[in-house]
Amino acid sequence: MEENVSASGDVSVAASGGVLTIDVGAVVANWQSLSARVAPARSAAVVKADAYGLGAAPLVGPLYRAGCRDFFVVTLSEAEALRPLLPADATLYVLNGLMPGTAPAFAGHGILPVLNSLSQCRAWAEARRGSLPAVIQVDTGMSRLGLDVAEQQALAAEPDLLAMTGARLIMSHLACADEPDKPGNGEQLSAFRAARERLPGFAGSLAASSGIFLGPDYHFDLCRPGASLYGIETSPLAAGIRPVVSLRVRVAQLREIETGTAVGYGYSFRASRTMRLATLATGYADGWWRRLSNGAGAAFSGDTRLPSVGRVSMDSFSVDVSALPEGALAEGDLVELIGPHQSVDDLARAAGTIGYEVLTSLGRRYSRVYA
Ligand SMILES: *Cc1c(COP(=O)(O)O)cnc(C)c1O
Repeated sequence: MEENVSASGDVSVAASGGVLTIDVGAVVANWQSLSARVAPARSAAVVKADAYGLGAAPLVGPLYRAGCRDFFVVTLSEAEALRPLLPADATLYVLNGLMPGTAPAFAGHGILPVLNSLSQCRAWAEARRGSLPAVIQVDTGMSRLGLDVAEQQALAAEPDLLAMTGARLIMSHLACADEPDKPGNGEQLSAFRAARERLPGFAGSLAASSGIFLGPDYHFDLCRPGASLYGIETSPLAAGIRPVVSLRVRVAQLREIETGTAVGYGYSFRASRTMRLATLATGYADGWWRRLSNGAGAAFSGDTRLPSVGRVSMDSFSVDVSALPEGALAEGDLVELIGPHQSVDDLARAAGTIGYEVLTSLGRRYSRVYA
């Protein structure tokens, strides 16, 4: 792996503090595995937030070639950026809805809005050109986006308006699918079925990654996985998901410190023995959480865990390398932060957050390798 990177001769790799490797084949394999699981329903790919920070542009082509035709983002500008990268038979959906004044841009680019309210349905019905369809989102319990029951009834009472929206899919989103035993899942499923009876005749979409693992009742016609594509464990029931990301960062400096010497901002750590330290070239500006200070986080060199020492700074943090043989590491060497010894989810647990937040926080300063 390391040889591959240096052999690539990519100057930007040597010039950066670390190498973020995104296994495109694993993203595609995860999509294929989810597609097989939900068949005969179809699987979309949620590529919002630049594919959870991993880079949507290099991923949408391979996903399309694997058979994916439905791509969800959150904003119109995200969709506009991806539209030229995808063939015309790929559909881009904008989850955050039809913001005032944007209908002509949707229609002009052939991008589908997710209509989240009755007023958005009206605006789209007026502005939509030709045969461009739309998606209607109903709220089934999360109180985030989508028509509530009263709005669903109002829309059902205006069949002309409903027809004018060109709606072809009714969707909703699950709040608790990562906790399979929560009654909220069954309640939302019932609420979604009721909404589909109010607004009959459309395809349905309910499940994101964790909803897929709740079983076929939740699959309807289209599933919308994001996190699972990127190797996050979204549910205790999740299976067959391959890791996607590896992160290795450089040793910026090596030093030996004496007993009593302080390390990092605030002198929050003092050595109780002679120690060898490595200062690593990544910090909270790169998404290496400050919560990972003083032993909460670690790097790995080979199989050796190198616990953090002192506070994480913006651009660096220190690890204790005393467990390694002297001379095992040199300045410029790469150590593992995400990889076989430490998954995105391990890191999330250590930082008190979720894998989604770890991925979307990964910094822009790493050189990125799409392997
Ligand atoms: C983000 C999002 C998804 C994807 O969720 P994952 O848990 O990442 O699979 C699907 N649908 C909606 C509405 C979303 O906001």
